[in-house]
Amino acid sequence: MKVIKFGGSSLADASQIKKVCGIILGDPDRRLVVVSAPGKRFKEDDKVTDLLISLAEASLAGQDISAALKKIKDRFTSIAYDLGLDDSFTLELTADIAERLESSKSNKKRYLDLLKAAGEDNSAKLVAAYLRSIGENAEYINPRDAGLVLSDEFGNAQVLSKSYNKLARLARRNTIMIFPGFFGYSETGEVVTFSRGGSDVTGAILAAAVNAEVYENFTDVDSVFAADPRIVENPTPIPMFSYEEMRELSYAGFNVLHEEALAPVYHKGITVNIKNTNNPDSPGTLIVPTHSLTKEHKKFKVVGIAADKGFMTLHVEKYMMNREIGFGRRLLQILEDEGISYEHTPSGIDSISVIIREQYYSEEVFDKIIKTIYSELTVDNVKTDFDQAIVMVVGNGMTHSIGTLATATKALADANININMINQGSSEVSIMFGIDAADAKASVKALYEAFFKQ
Ligand code: ASP
Repeated sequence: MKVIKFGGSSLADASQIKKVCGIILGDPDRRLVVVSAPGKRFKEDDKVTDLLISLAEASLAGQDISAALKKIKDRFTSIAYDLGLDDSFTLELTADIAERLESSKSNKKRYLDLLKAAGEDNSAKLVAAYLRSIGENAEYINPRDAGLVLSDEFGNAQVLSKSYNKLARLARRNTIMIFPGFFGYSETGEVVTFSRGGSDVTGAILAAAVNAEVYENFTDVDSVFAADPRIVENPTPIPMFSYEEMRELSYAGFNVLHEEALAPVYHKGITVNIKNTNNPDSPGTLIVPTHSLTKEHKKFKVVGIAADKGFMTLHVEKYMMNREIGFGRRLLQILEDEGISYEHTPSGIDSISVIIREQYYSEEVFDKIIKTIYSELTVDNVKTDFDQAIVMVVGNGMTHSIGTLATATKALADANININMINQGSSEVSIMFGIDAADAKASVKALYEAFFKQ
């Protein structure tokens, strides 16, 4: 059986939903379907998830919610109408959103998740209702009944391993199952969502649970490109990536697939196929285990360039740091005690830098951290740099080739971009540069030119 996921643009209106259903019905193995909430129909349009967030925020602030509520209802109602569904869908939707709005506001994050999840939940009900209306044996699957249990980290949940055995039972059903993406239930029965774009994660979890033959992820591009087409004109399409390559690129800002979506399928070696709802016959891009990479693919030394902003660096200097046993551990412990996750720790003999996502920064917490570092580790200097970006050059092929770093640093130098830090992991799948955020786009352009346009 195949697990198949459709992103928001594939569910944005009735004609897209008809395409989606045509794709599902085109292959009898496509039995477990994950859907996002309706996305944008055109560039300036709203995503239903964003409308739901505005609605929840207005409701929490005690403001008038009628305009926000109307937008959401109109969006769903017009799709249902264009699909020729009767009023029962609209009535159910109205009752469902009203119930969510009336629930307790004591925990704001919980309230926000409950409303956010309405997009996917109603989208799944809509697609199932439409398939039934055209005579298909389709059903909406409730993630709670199916057993998708998540950690209670609202807005950023993770799957609990006990989910897999329960979800595996879905393979025994003989219907077309429409499963809402993006959310599940905590152990205490609360609705919890993944981070944004998380329907990709739902699809991957289900693919792993039912041991799918393939996880097809339908979006609105024919293939994945070597760089973001908004930065580089007509970038090279890449037909195949290894899991590691895709993971590195998603981490560094490729928004093709959610950064956490490969973890569930990785251990089972399930192939992910990124495909286009608007051109389903195009083969798309495959994401496979390294040992399944074809000779064709191996010709690419580098398969992608990506950059992401929003990082800061904490530089710590201490003369003779390298002789001090446990220095790194104690430094990271200070961050851990404040609940701060770190990303990278490039180091020299007398200095260490810790790269952190800027979202974790608050003046109060970092003043405390810096004071503790001075007092507990008796260091010479601690300094912070903000507005940092990382740019990654990714490719399994660089393990066997010489000069990748030289090509990259020359390209950055020629573009007058200052490198603040270089990091190459032991797997040699990527080289990462720390640069100023203002140079992020220019660095992608320069590196793309150097690796793909010689
Ligand atoms: N609708 C959610 C979002 O916009 C989740 C998803 O589409 O994957 O983030």
